[in-house]
Amino acid sequence: MKRIYLDHAATTPVAKEVLAAMLPYFSEKYGNANSLHAYGREAKQALEKSRETIAGSINALPEEIIFTSGGTESDNIAIKELFFTNREKNHIITSKIEHDAVLNTCKFLENMGAKVTYLDVDKYSIINLDQLKNAITEKTLLVSIMHANNEIGTVQDIEKIGKICRERNVIFHTDAVQSYCKERIDVKKQNIDMMSLSAHKIYGPKGVGALYVGKGIKKKIGTFLHGGGHEFGLRSGTENIAGIVGFAKAVEIAQRDFEKNNKKMRTLRDELIKGVLKIPETFLNGHPAKRLSNNANFIFKYVEGEGIVMKLDDKGVAASTGSACSSKSLKPSHVLLALGLKPEDAHGSLRLTLGKDNTKKEIDHVLAVLSKAVEELRKASPFWRK
Ligand SMILES: *Cc1c(COP(=O)(O)O)cnc(C)c1O
Repeated sequence: MKRIYLDHAATTPVAKEVLAAMLPYFSEKYGNANSLHAYGREAKQALEKSRETIAGSINALPEEIIFTSGGTESDNIAIKELFFTNREKNHIITSKIEHDAVLNTCKFLENMGAKVTYLDVDKYSIINLDQLKNAITEKTLLVSIMHANNEIGTVQDIEKIGKICRERNVIFHTDAVQSYCKERIDVKKQNIDMMSLSAHKIYGPKGVGALYVGKGIKKKIGTFLHGGGHEFGLRSGTENIAGIVGFAKAVEIAQRDFEKNNKKMRTLRDELIKGVLKIPETFLNGHPAKRLSNNANFIFKYVEGEGIVMKLDDKGVAASTGSACSSKSLKPSHVLLALGLKPEDAHGSLRLTLGKDNTKKEIDHVLAVLSKAVEELRKASPFWRK
């Protein structure tokens, strides 16, 4: 049987249409977007058209989109540059379940004088809005709360979070890398000041992303990369035109197929969840309803998540224990610990994330392989009694 990929939260393949859109920008239309000649103008035009596409998809203005090298960089720019440029306020509020790009940036800033509040989440991993309100002081500069979690797929009510921030005159940043093109995003309606996006999670190329910075916030953000003044002086460096064109193409396709893809993934996800929960002493992590269309994350008592991932890999099924970044370390996931799981249970987690091209047949196959894998591993566990 062909290999089955169920790790779309880690990355996705570049769509064929995306690759086709990118190819001319390597060896034919290779101009530098800052050159005055025809080559340069051609590149500039592609750059600005891509900016319009991405802006349009989130109800932003083109000049509010800054191209970056990906989600990690966007998170870094948003948090660091806001902090370094507005030293009169030093308090940042975030949550315990953020991506490492946000958490480790906040930890770094703590060494630079920032005070950081890490909000708790409930057992379904939802932020408590009253706790957020109570945490805001006159020193609070920024609230950074992710839209959807990369490990367990929980979707936060960012519109309400944004509204609280607006009312208290605090800037709101959200990491929307996982939710982009899976949840509807409208930066105006949802009161978002800054937002991180990445291309490779939506069938675009790796190494490209964007940071949305609302018009009124832009002057509060300092220069991240000093140089020739590209990207409105915030992030210098010759633009990655092929990557940016690919990113915009991926967005165009994802917006066009939004309903179709998400409906399909949601149906398969529900079948997957239903099937997996038939395995004894198995639990779903995250919120039962407020979760991404493609995410399923489980705890299998008495087995290690790594063990399951290896066994699935042997059978040609690609899965993950948590986030791709933390799966190499043997520390239990900070997200699962924040939900209140015991460390030994947090070790037994498995993340399966669907893509638009997965099929019912694949899901049926995975269910069979998975229940066998769990059974075998449990037989070898001293804690498991049949
Ligand atoms: C993947 C991911 C990132 C990092 O994006 P890169 O483009 O890989 O740097 C950041 N945040 C979340 C929630 C992610 O899932």
